[in-house]
Amino acid sequence: MDTKEQTTLLLPADNIDMQPTRRLGGTGKKKLAYITFAVLIALVLIAISVLSLAVQRASFPATSHVYQSTRVYHRTPPPSPTPAPIQPLPNTLQGDIDTLTAHNRFFYNGNINLPEIALTFDDGPNPDNTPQILNILKKYRIHATFFDLGRLVELYPDLVKQEIAEGNVVGNHTWSHPDLPSLAPDAIQAQIKDTYNTLLKVTGIRPIFFRPPYGDLSAQTLKIVNYFGLSTVVWNNDSRDWSMPGTSQIVTGVLNSVNNGTIILLHDGGGNRLQTIAALPTIIENLLARHFRFVTLAEMAAHAQVQPNQPTPTPTAPLYHQQFFVWQREFYPGCWRLS
Ligand code: ZN
Repeated sequence: MDTKEQTTLLLPADNIDMQPTRRLGGTGKKKLAYITFAVLIALVLIAISVLSLAVQRASFPATSHVYQSTRVYHRTPPPSPTPAPIQPLPNTLQGDIDTLTAHNRFFYNGNINLPEIALTFDDGPNPDNTPQILNILKKYRIHATFFDLGRLVELYPDLVKQEIAEGNVVGNHTWSHPDLPSLAPDAIQAQIKDTYNTLLKVTGIRPIFFRPPYGDLSAQTLKIVNYFGLSTVVWNNDSRDWSMPGTSQIVTGVLNSVNNGTIILLHDGGGNRLQTIAALPTIIENLLARHFRFVTLAEMAAHAQVQPNQPTPTPTAPLYHQQFFVWQREFYPGCWRLS
């Protein structure tokens, strides 16, 4: 027998002696295979998580981790189906507001248990102001809601398309900004319907939010708004930027009354908005530093209903990790279940 043959013959016996696992029965082998498989899967999942975190960090400017988390959180929600009118409405102003509020179709603010803020810009689109505001939103990787006037949508359709393309929401602010309660029902309907159709034609998206000029409402107005399946959104934080009180006054006024679910009223149209544009970065940076998240009204409305017993999130919590997992859950459902 030559050396080669000896080796061949000896090897199986050596293997049995040297590898105690071979002494395990079929169940033991299976167990070992399961453990090896589980460890491999765990390693792959950890690698995926680390890689996606690295990619995510690399795609954001290094200025603040808060900007990163905002980007992660603000994924544009899918388009909603046309909402049906709420029936019946009591046909009194307060009764209608109460009924619509109970159906999440009327908002002064968002969910008071969530650290969410909605920036809203009225009376545009405006070729001087709107692009500058869009640039600021883009710089901070946040989104807002624009309540546009139908006649300006017709004049500047590309600006409206840009608002949408950059992840913002566009709502109906009537055709020409009249005081609606002073108009006949047909005229109210025309103001809302013409804007609705023009927005739909220009953007391809059915508007779902409405804001009355000056915040003025009547039961008749709400009946027509409800007929179009629109949700009415007013505000609970008025920057009064339209009165041009000075940049620092706008900043202080807004920041002094911000809470969970605040809807901030600002303007990108209706005149010179240089003070608004100058105030905006300070407002955004301050609120991001306080761990508020900027959401569109679509997101705010989607989060309006809180489940009973849901714990109240703390705005000072380290949101980055929390939001990373929200993001991860969308792409890697398996990871979420394991974690
Ligand atoms: Zn307005």
